Amino acid sequence: MFLLALFGGGANKVKKEGMKKMFVDQMRLRLLEDKMRILSKIEEFKKLHLQHHESGQDEAEMTSHDVNTNLAIELQERNRLALMRIERALEKIEKNIYGVCESCGADIGSKRLMAQPLARLCINCMKDLEERPQLH
Ligand SMILES: [Zn+2]
Repeated sequence: MFLLALFGGGANKVKKEGMKKMFVDQMRLRLLEDKMRILSKIEEFKKLHLQHHESGQDEAEMTSHDVNTNLAIELQERNRLALMRIERALEKIEKNIYGVCESCGADIGSKRLMAQPLARLCINCMKDLEERPQLH
């Protein structure tokens, strides 16, 4: 029965769907790893930041500390943003719409996703967006 189904008209489709599922599973693992890494970075930052506040500092140290704090906050913001984008991609995997262009609905393509797991647009829409003057 199984073999018959494989050799039937839908064989190519079945194979393609299977490959796609495998690919998405792989991407899911990669995204989860990235998520863990960023989460630990955020935790690390929090610990570091708290320690800074606990130790007494003179004025000169405070000034350089402020610069560091600004940098750290910027970094932390970037981490948060990256985390949000990863969450969004994972949500799309759950909804079975991962790898679908958010603008035109085309398949983004595994090559592009391998290079940019968080890609939300296909290469054509991405080009359109880059060539279009910024509206905001
Ligand atoms: Zn598109």
